[in-house]
Amino acid sequence: MPLLTEQSLADCINNSFWFDIVNKRVSEFFALNEDCRSCKYLKNCSGGCRAYALVNDPDNYMGKSPMLCELLLGEWPDKIIELVKGVRPDAKILYL
Ligand code: SF4
Repeated sequence: MPLLTEQSLADCINNSFWFDIVNKRVSEFFALNEDCRSCKYLKNCSGGCRAYALVNDPDNYMGKSPMLCELLLGEWPDKIIELVKGVRPDAKILYL
């Protein structure tokens, strides 16, 4: 991790593993994850959380997020909306 007490700001920005992660583009992620490119939840998910990807594979922060796959591909948002509507039929639920 860059330390401003030991490195210049320019060096921290230009030679930082963390900034490399921040600067990754979603397109780079999709290039590496074929499943995601054809997923119907692509616009909702964009591959999920990088932290969860690391939990799944500590050597690959560019992997997809298995937890989000489980949630979305398991149709859980629709199931939760159905449950809420069963209790509160007038509930206004915003879901992208
Ligand atoms: S739900 Fe899974 S397969 Fe679909 S875009 Fe998200 S990470 Fe990729």
